[in-house]
Amino acid sequence: MIIICYRWKIYFHFQEYPTGVILIPMGSRTAKPFQTTNLVVFAPENVPNASKDNKYIASGDALIVDPGCLSEFHGELKKIVTALPRRLVVFVTHHHPDHVDGLSVIQKCNPDAILLAHENTMRHISRDDWSLSYTSVFGDENICIGGQKLKVIFAPGHTDGHMALLHVNTHSLIVGDHCVGQGSALLDISGGGNMSEYFQTTYKFLELSPHILIPMHGRVNVWPKHMLCEYLKNRRSREANILKAIEGGAKTLFDIVAYVYSNVDRRAWIAASSNVRLHVDHLAQQHKLPKDFSIRNFKNTCGLHFLSRWIWGYTSCSFRSRKSSFLIAGVLVGIAVLVHCTTKTKFRK
Ligand SMILES: [Zn+2]
Ligand SMILES: [Zn+2]
Repeated sequence: MIIICYRWKIYFHFQEYPTGVILIPMGSRTAKPFQTTNLVVFAPENVPNASKDNKYIASGDALIVDPGCLSEFHGELKKIVTALPRRLVVFVTHHHPDHVDGLSVIQKCNPDAILLAHENTMRHISRDDWSLSYTSVFGDENICIGGQKLKVIFAPGHTDGHMALLHVNTHSLIVGDHCVGQGSALLDISGGGNMSEYFQTTYKFLELSPHILIPMHGRVNVWPKHMLCEYLKNRRSREANILKAIEGGAKTLFDIVAYVYSNVDRRAWIAASSNVRLHVDHLAQQHKLPKDFSIRNFKNTCGLHFLSRWIWGYTSCSFRSRKSSFLIAGVLVGIAVLVHCTTKTKFRK
């Protein structure tokens, strides 16, 4: 194992914190401001007897979490996997490409590796990524790596199959995309993202009181309570603003987004609109919406209605400022998103 770690020190820039938990930022298809996904590698150096205890859902001598790098980094991933012990466990927090793009490399290098993921995650992963069998996890299972225990935590919200992992010895929590190193994580509405579940998962993390949060994008966070409370505060404040817009008469998605994000660049309104839809669902679940607000009519304004008003608003703004390049870009982006959304977007029921 010392040789393995020594090889890492030669080949890769990595961060080891807490001791024994190694983070290697790998270039990935993630969203700005990030460019990398943290590949988490856990391979304790003093491996005691291999555990065959059936209280563990899986055991091994090394663990890899979220191998989601771009193809140009597959060579590096291959070196890492080849240097690790054969008894390898692979854990995937959720299905986004920046978390699973390297799965096929692992399968080729080590077909004996055990993949652990939630079944909702596996529904989204293609057979090209992972064609062998996998072990379903639902939360509360234990994994044994080199004699050390990790606990699987069901953590939906960002997607419906999102999972986290607690390293019991150091009480550090690998949080997937529930938290990110900077700013707040977006919820994926087409991947089963859900605001109510996001809040519940955040409360669950607070109850766990981890010492450290390990996000898959950006740096580790050593003040978990502060970060999680800020997340709750920001989302509650945004939700209160959305409710204020609705109580002030906004009935359509566009009107609510225009009110809540009036100070934000219009280019960000498309991404923001998913967030607003999830907050409106959450308000409806809590029975907080005014009686004269029709959720059905609101949902009818979430597709073409929103996009046409956004394109119109964006292009007329660009025209006024005589930035013809923005005008053309706006129209093109709008058309692209329109085509994308009409084919892919589905509303949550
Ligand atoms: Zn994600
Ligand atoms: Zn991600």
